Amino acid sequence: MKYVVIIGDGMADFPLEELDGRTPLMAAKKPCMDMMAREGFCGKVVTVPEGFPPGSDVACMSIFGYDPAKYYTGRAPIEAFGMGIAMDENDVAFRCNLVNLEFTSAGTVMGDYSGGHITTPEAKILIEDINKKLGNNEFVFYPGVSYRHIMLWKHGLWQMKTTPPHDITKKEIAPYIPSGDGSETIVDLMNKSQNILGGHPLNTKRIKEGKLPANSIWLWGQGKRSQFPSFFDKYQLKGATVAAVDLVKGISSMIGFDTPFVKGATGYIDTNFKGKAQKALELLQDHDIVYIHVEAPDEASHNGNTREKIQAIEHIDREIVSTMYESLNEPVKFLIVTDHATPISMKTHYGCPVPFIIFTKGKGESGGSPSGYNENAGEKEFTGEELITFFIRGQKP
Ligand SMILES: [Zn+2]
Repeated sequence: MKYVVIIGDGMADFPLEELDGRTPLMAAKKPCMDMMAREGFCGKVVTVPEGFPPGSDVACMSIFGYDPAKYYTGRAPIEAFGMGIAMDENDVAFRCNLVNLEFTSAGTVMGDYSGGHITTPEAKILIEDINKKLGNNEFVFYPGVSYRHIMLWKHGLWQMKTTPPHDITKKEIAPYIPSGDGSETIVDLMNKSQNILGGHPLNTKRIKEGKLPANSIWLWGQGKRSQFPSFFDKYQLKGATVAAVDLVKGISSMIGFDTPFVKGATGYIDTNFKGKAQKALELLQDHDIVYIHVEAPDEASHNGNTREKIQAIEHIDREIVSTMYESLNEPVKFLIVTDHATPISMKTHYGCPVPFIIFTKGKGESGGSPSGYNENAGEKEFTGEELITFFIRGQKP
């Protein structure tokens, strides 16, 4: 038996007036997912346990079958692992966003959490300059993809309150400045970055091109490294993941999965959907289970773009789900799921049980959803660990 897990990040949503009371999932043309939902088994998975922030890190950890209450130590250590950054046991990793701040007379506002969707090559120049000027034996800055980077604080402090910048778009930043043990050091670094980035020639060029300058770093999601039992030890299957974002690649490599690079995988609507499916088919030749993660619906939701969210879901159905379904011979089992809701109306994540489909090619199941795959599909609730055990071993909790 081969296993295929397809995660559309942030697909779940609320009914929207502009869609006549439907959700983007309901409005999207997705014949393959809907067929699987009707003929397969549908349920709900609680990807974000009580008390945890509804981030993709927590939610995806659940969908890989690991209980965040046991294994979650913060977002940044996972991404650092995904980027191949070695951490000592006393190191603290911080997510380091390049952001755009608006300095107004009324106060400083979070203009854009992605630094105006800065490109990876541009960001590399800025982060390397930051490392030259602020880096030393204690602080090291590592360039990543687009606006997502990592800072390591050697023997650092981590029990401070920090805020994801995508949660405070267009809000004054004062109430969300890091606070608590060690925060003055972190705030000092953020302030110093503004002096470096403010007059940086690359930002001057971006302004000339009509783009937002990435004029500050924003540090959050900190934690120490975590230890995971391998997926093979837990489920006796050899696995691999196809993903663009370091977060998902990080979790995957921490549990012993292969995470090959896919050309053109961007994490946005312009990602290489077909290339991801092709890579997954390749991997299934010598792996038992393959996860395919697509970030595009979540990015569209953070920008409040309903049309782009629907397009992303339709691309996933046409170029990934259908391709996998048509190309794979039996026996093969599919798990179609989203990691959390990112409601267009909120432009940020919302913690609630989300729908999933389990579909075995060539075998009908009871418990399907007549209306297809959407937020109304499925009743029975599973934790992430229960879902993966049920998916692989067929034992309901
Ligand atoms: Zn997510």
